[in-house]
Amino acid sequence: MRRALEQRRETLVAELGGDEVRLREGGGDLEEADLSRDMGELNEIEAARRRLDDGSYGICTDCGADIGFERLHAEPAAARCVECQRRHEKTYRR
Ligand SMILES: [Zn+2]
Repeated sequence: MRRALEQRRETLVAELGGDEVRLREGGGDLEEADLSRDMGELNEIEAARRRLDDGSYGICTDCGADIGFERLHAEPAAARCVECQRRHEKTYRR
């Protein structure tokens, strides 16, 4: 699972790096929503890496239940189980 996280992180960093270059070059068509979404996901991946290190990876941060392999496989940076994520998205509309 750590490998999947690392790969996703590298992809994101590469994407963000590309966006930064476009910004510097004055390409005004940068999609800010995309950028902030990627930044958010990058933060989630960093948090997931910290959880891997302290052993709490794969455990829902809200209710403490197992997140489940299938969900982690689809979304390696997931910090919540499906139910808590759904509730979270409803609360914060993201
Ligand atoms: Zn939960």
